[in-house]
Amino acid sequence: GKRINSAVNNALSSAQSDYSTTIDNMLKAITTALLESDVNIQLVSRLRNNIKSKLMESKGNTKSVSNGQTKKLIQKTVYDELCALVDCNDGQEPFRPKKKQSNIIMFVGLQGSGKTTSCTKLAVYYSKRGFKVGLVCADTFRAGAFDQLKQNAIKARIPFYGSYTETDPVKVAAEGIAKFKKEKFEIIIVDTSGRHHQEESLFQEMVEISRVVKPNQTIMVLDASIGQAAEQQSKAFKESSDFGAIILTKMDGHARGGGAISAVAATNTPIIFIGTGEHIHDLEKFSPQSFISKLLGIGDMESLFETLQTVTNKEDTKATMENIQQGKFTLLDFKKQMQTIMKMGPLSNIAQMIPGMGNMMNQVGEEETSRSMKKMVYVLDSMTKEELESDGRIFIDEPSRMVRVARGSGTSVIDVEMILQQQQMMARMAQSVKAAQPGAAGGPAGN
Ligand code: GDP
Ligand code: MG
Repeated sequence: GKRINSAVNNALSSAQSDYSTTIDNMLKAITTALLESDVNIQLVSRLRNNIKSKLMESKGNTKSVSNGQTKKLIQKTVYDELCALVDCNDGQEPFRPKKKQSNIIMFVGLQGSGKTTSCTKLAVYYSKRGFKVGLVCADTFRAGAFDQLKQNAIKARIPFYGSYTETDPVKVAAEGIAKFKKEKFEIIIVDTSGRHHQEESLFQEMVEISRVVKPNQTIMVLDASIGQAAEQQSKAFKESSDFGAIILTKMDGHARGGGAISAVAATNTPIIFIGTGEHIHDLEKFSPQSFISKLLGIGDMESLFETLQTVTNKEDTKATMENIQQGKFTLLDFKKQMQTIMKMGPLSNIAQMIPGMGNMMNQVGEEETSRSMKKMVYVLDSMTKEELESDGRIFIDEPSRMVRVARGSGTSVIDVEMILQQQQMMARMAQSVKAAQPGAAGGPAGN
């Protein structure tokens, strides 16, 4: 992310008087940075041409453009073009399960991509939204697969079905679905085996399971670190199982997931969720804007705090900065930040810098955003000192706290969860700030 920004800066500082040469230099730098983030080469070159023609067009409309304006324009154009690339479904959910009927969701993806983990996360997600959800383990290939799903399911309190003796995945899938259908389950999630690589037999198996399961929705799970192999792999899965959505896992790791853009482009299928950890709650709705911001390094903590520092109570900011240096970002830091932002006036500039917030703004406008920010402060006001000074895990360990806070602030548990998710996102960034410091001790920070 930083690389892309500094590439733009470098190109600008050596800017030539010739507008077209300037653009060429900047695009070259951006292209290199995107390729390094695993974005597919054909996509990058298409992007480059689009951007160039857009920029030349807007140049035609203005007499003179300063370097600052050019930089902003390029950043915005790159950002918009990339967002459009991953937002292939216009922000619409590809599938909405209906209550009081059996919705079958089947998972496909390579071994180790995170299918079993994501199955459970999705089951928890729907179960929290009032659906009766069951999990079926149709992975009879890997020893221990059923045990893994069973342990996850028990931890998440989701009913499950599987077999230790049956070796035919098609049969287990059919039995599990029949059982859950009979018991009027509303969402039945079928986990499959990934085996190793792109073996013919794996794809044959997907076709057969799919024929019996007749899924309402098939989800392909993709590891964010897959890189350039994403295109080929997703095409192969699309042919055998015609998935309608993608879950991108391990976005909490080092990979920025540039490869996923090729998967979306090659299959014209949207990403619906991202996995951000091993825990059952580490599932976030996919937002093209936050994803691209992260890829490009916009919305990055440091620029946010640079802005904040110029307008805020120095002491408060200092404490938060110190926390970030140590790789921490508590709910209290989050609260202070909210209050500061609300004092600052026009939200749009600032909101764009906060992951998830810019997205919210774009969808609902300034007034609505200001209202939801107030709601967030009410939620934070209802937390105890202990809760505020914590890293937020306390709520996951004791979910009853969420209910208490929701009640106390006149909001819903989902509102509380949303805040926790955003704070977790900031906390992860704080950890990456810490990791990026010169002389930072190696090894993962925190829990
Ligand atoms: P499967 O073979 O496709 O079923 O993959 P699993 O669900 O068994 O996941 C493989 C490994 O990746 C396990 O160690 C998971 O805990 C881990 N994993 C899955 N999703 C995530 C994620 O979003 N973040 C992180 N950090 N680890 C994940
Ligand atoms: Mg598995």
